[in-house]
Amino acid sequence: MTTCPYCGWPDSDVVTVLSRHRTPEGETVWTRCACGSLQTRVIDAAGTKVVLRGRPHEPESPRNVTAPGDVPCER
Ligand SMILES: [Zn+2]
Repeated sequence: MTTCPYCGWPDSDVVTVLSRHRTPEGETVWTRCACGSLQTRVIDAAGTKVVLRGRPHEPESPRNVTAPGDVPCER
């Protein structure tokens, strides 16, 4: 099991589900952690995997705005 690197929250305990999208492989779920970190999870036959993770409460900066799916992996 993995935990949030910012607050230690277990990834298996979803705090807030922002949106779900069906994909050919299964499902992509956008969630927000207790600390405000945005996560992208991919659910397929193998289970749930956190593939992308944003920083908690990102400071507002126009240069740092990225579209969903464009967030670099910060593992
Ligand atoms: Zn967190």
